Amino acid sequence: VLLPLVRGEDAPDPAPLPSRLILPLQTAAGDAARPLVSPGQRVRAGEALSEPLGLLSRVRRAPLSGLVAAVERRPLLAAPLGDGDPGAPATVDCIVLEDLEAPSSPATQAWRELDAAERARRLGAAGLSGAEGLPLDLELELLPPGATLVLRCAELQPGQRSIDWLLRQHAGEIAAAVESLLEPGRFAEAVLVHGEGQKESASRLAAHLEHHLPTRPVALREGYPWDHPRLLVHKASGRWADHARCLAAQGWLLLEPGRLLRLARRLSREDYGSPLLLSVCRVDSGRRGPVPAAPPRLLRLLPGMPLGEARIPLGARPGELLLFGGPFDGRPALDDELPLPEGLDTITLLPRGAWPVHREEACISCGQCLDICPVRLAPVRLVHLIAEGRLAEARALGLGECLDCGLCSWNCPSRIHLGHGLRDGLQQLREGRRER
Ligand code: SF4
Ligand code: SF4
Repeated sequence: VLLPLVRGEDAPDPAPLPSRLILPLQTAAGDAARPLVSPGQRVRAGEALSEPLGLLSRVRRAPLSGLVAAVERRPLLAAPLGDGDPGAPATVDCIVLEDLEAPSSPATQAWRELDAAERARRLGAAGLSGAEGLPLDLELELLPPGATLVLRCAELQPGQRSIDWLLRQHAGEIAAAVESLLEPGRFAEAVLVHGEGQKESASRLAAHLEHHLPTRPVALREGYPWDHPRLLVHKASGRWADHARCLAAQGWLLLEPGRLLRLARRLSREDYGSPLLLSVCRVDSGRRGPVPAAPPRLLRLLPGMPLGEARIPLGARPGELLLFGGPFDGRPALDDELPLPEGLDTITLLPRGAWPVHREEACISCGQCLDICPVRLAPVRLVHLIAEGRLAEARALGLGECLDCGLCSWNCPSRIHLGHGLRDGLQQLREGRRER
């Protein structure tokens, strides 16, 4: 059962306000931030809850007004499903907000009337995160001049033209958001990555952007909306990103039309009373039997909402397993206390019993992990080198290029947990870089 999430603020079916928000102080790519608040303190929407501390650390802002109930370590996501038994989840410092206040209706002000410094301030205060969970303003700061804007055309499914809908309803706002990102010299080009069935609507979006940005031609490339960010960037540019550096620092800003729309609205607001929202597109294609599959629908969800409170709005049945992410690189959400992550664009819902838990067997040297690796690595060789502590040799064989996509684990007939070993090596590479 696939539940791709498509972001946008006007999706129907808003999920009820959750009882709590769990806000991690660490992103996948960065160091933990230092909390600025203590339990018992009331905070207003948009207020900074943490300050950066170390590499790619972030300011975490309150998505809603509420009461700080706890600042404590909590579990986050486990390993991708392809690795079989996910083991114990990692824990990171989190701020828990309770007694949440429903957002007030924001006053509006034309963003074009604001000067550049004020726009930059609002961009930071908007609390939007980019493709890798970093704040959008930090990503913009990291971008070298002449970067590439990569727009991911996420459709709901063939026949449901969400991009066309966005263009019909919000053409001006999308153009305004793009314009706000286009400081002189920031982007040299824009590329739209779209699936085969989305070519027509992607062309319309490209024409729309070119109309508003006549000096910047927009290229179209084929891909899939659920592709791993680094695969998307490869499809957009023909180059592989270095795994250990964030995409923005390497010259790519990854967005999709729904996030552009949110950005435009955030920039035009006097206050930030409206929470950062996710909208879910549900495609129930996996259930079989007497109960017909539910039709696809959109759903608003708040990042930080505990998974247990999202189960009912998502329509998940008891015993069904949710993956945060797609079937290739989705992380199994085994604990109802896990917060919905920011930047999530897909949820995969697996029926009871469909979750493969495998026992490892001996490698039969079939080479299937090599055949499926999209960056042509030798996963089993790398895993052996990492296990023997020969990190320099693993790096020389391209460990830094690994996408952490989990495909090698999925394809291995001996069910060897290659992804666990690779992730361990990637983490060691990152730590080595931080120590230098
Ligand atoms: S996780 Fe495996 S298949 Fe994916 S890029 Fe890394 S080595 Fe290749
Ligand atoms: S796919 Fe599995 S069994 Fe085949 S070579 Fe790779 S690790 Fe060995």
